[in-house]
Amino acid sequence: MLIAGNWKMFKGPAATRAFAERFAPPAGVDVVVAPPFVSLAAAVEAGLTAYAQNVHWATEGAFTGEISAPMLLELGVAGAIVGHSERRQWFGETDATVARRAEAALAAGLHVIACVGELEAEREAGETEAVLRRQVSVLPPGERLVVAYEPVWAIGTGRTATPALAQEAHAFVKSLLDRPVLYGGSVKPENAAELLAQPDVDGALVGGASLEPASFAAICAAAAAVA
Ligand code: PEP
Repeated sequence: MLIAGNWKMFKGPAATRAFAERFAPPAGVDVVVAPPFVSLAAAVEAGLTAYAQNVHWATEGAFTGEISAPMLLELGVAGAIVGHSERRQWFGETDATVARRAEAALAAGLHVIACVGELEAEREAGETEAVLRRQVSVLPPGERLVVAYEPVWAIGTGRTATPALAQEAHAFVKSLLDRPVLYGGSVKPENAAELLAQPDVDGALVGGASLEPASFAAICAAAAAVA
């Protein structure tokens, strides 16, 4: 069971250190945090397992604003998220660029959490499986690859997929690619146990509720209890 905290554009180095001082995850569950790039070193130094929120496919070059896998590895970063819906929605990320990022990161030795998930309109139009097939089919196979199913309508909205809906989507993703699948979308201490108890839910990618040490630890405890 893997519980990953996506801090988005929250917490500089000082706030990262303060989080680490107060965060006491239970044993029996793998826990990672993905702080902003500028806080990765602070997270690693504080003893947290740190993932980047994105990674470029080139090792170096004229790519202003991007960070490469070797640079992350030099800092002691263990992995990277790729394809988060906010990157797809606001920064022009496509299935093709997600695939390139994932492939390069895996080849360099990073763990990768590749995010997939349908928009609300796509679900309403009955396109969920077609969207997931399109997004998953480009992902490179790899032992360090984990998929995160994040229905876009459930991210940061307080609307969580029902456990049954999550289970159905996870089983479908696994039928396409035999890798662990995390659920993401308004996971909180109150709903974590039920979601994580689903047979094909292998962990969670947590946004808002990962910012507070106590709530993130409570989600990790729910994972440890079903692991
Ligand atoms: C996320 O950012 O991946 C996410 C799932 O956010 P939240 O938990 O806040 O919905």
